[in-house]
Amino acid sequence: MDIRFLGGAEEVGRSAVLVNGSLLLDYGMKSATPPQFPVASPSPDAVVASHGHLDHVGALPSLLSGDDRSPIHWTPPTRELALTLARDTLKLHGGTYNCPFTEEEIKRVTQVSETHGYRETFEAADHQVTFYNAGHIPGSAHVLIDDGDTRLLYTGDFHTEDQRLVAGTTARPAADVVVCESTYSDVTHGNRGDLEEQFATSVRTTLWEGGTVVIPAFAIGRTQELLLICESHDIPCYVDGMGKQVTETLRQYPAFLRDGEALRRAKSHARFVTGRDGHRKRIAEKNVAIITTSGMLSGGPAMTYIPEIRDRPVNKIAMTGYQVEGTPGRELLETGRAEIDGRVMPVAAQVEQYDFSAHADRSGLLELLDSYRDTPVLIDHGDRCGAFADELVADGFEASAPENGDRVSI
Ligand SMILES: [Zn+2]
Repeated sequence: MDIRFLGGAEEVGRSAVLVNGSLLLDYGMKSATPPQFPVASPSPDAVVASHGHLDHVGALPSLLSGDDRSPIHWTPPTRELALTLARDTLKLHGGTYNCPFTEEEIKRVTQVSETHGYRETFEAADHQVTFYNAGHIPGSAHVLIDDGDTRLLYTGDFHTEDQRLVAGTTARPAADVVVCESTYSDVTHGNRGDLEEQFATSVRTTLWEGGTVVIPAFAIGRTQELLLICESHDIPCYVDGMGKQVTETLRQYPAFLRDGEALRRAKSHARFVTGRDGHRKRIAEKNVAIITTSGMLSGGPAMTYIPEIRDRPVNKIAMTGYQVEGTPGRELLETGRAEIDGRVMPVAAQVEQYDFSAHADRSGLLELLDSYRDTPVLIDHGDRCGAFADELVADGFEASAPENGDRVSI
């Protein structure tokens, strides 16, 4: 088997792996200024997508320019999320370098799409392919690829512990080589229940004191997880931004949720913001929590809410995910001010950070890899892939960390 890394090696973003020159795994976009795309634009015979996040499917429609009409295989939620992301990219950046495709190519995605459930083996570019629940977001998959001689397990992004939205991964299919993500290879997540309790207590305290809590959250996965948390802790909340539409979408695929009924309850517990900025300004004066995009304060309705609540120390901004260097969210955490919509604003409101991760931490990565002790392991999707591979070697694994452009033969 020939495995070529076109993106996502030694980095997080623009994931793309070409197998035997014909089967492409993921084709993502790296959010940066300007965004980055995989290092080559292949013409595969088939495409398989692991899950619906921008760094795994963001550039996918661009594969369908010209005469190429390769089928795209994915789970039903991944299809819907990828289309939502593509339409959003087109709306925000259409006609510029930042959007490498057109409306026409998005339409072609719907024409070549082939959906599959977990554990249903299908054929793609003369390979046998099977998806297994990866426990990251709804529809996320580990992808097992068999070319007749060699079985590759591409983990995609995964979590070994249960989240409210999705159950953790338990599948460990036999494989001859593993490509494994390593986002949190030097992190130990605290106990999730304790973190949730701490978050709920903090939000409630602010509401009792007469404040408003803005909760910036990624649209896909995180917004729904926070809706579930708010419902279960009886925290009154509004939800705004792209997360609203994604919540509606995911509700239609209960088989890919840990508890479809819980998400239905969480959705009816929250109030969906439908109005314009005048409506948002009124909501920002209430004693409520507001879950809104963007997760790193780089756009979305958060741009309206933050300026409204920033002046009063009784208010709170509760960040819920990792803040990438150079984003307003990171700047706010580090300096107490942030550039919002082109204006640098000091923030008197309290700022907190909660690590509601959807990725395995170091012990989760090792727990999965423990089933592959006699299997070559290729580490990707992280900021310290090489260091993690070295640690695995010291632990007796046959591990390495390829670079973008590298070709590995197994
Ligand atoms: Zn992901």
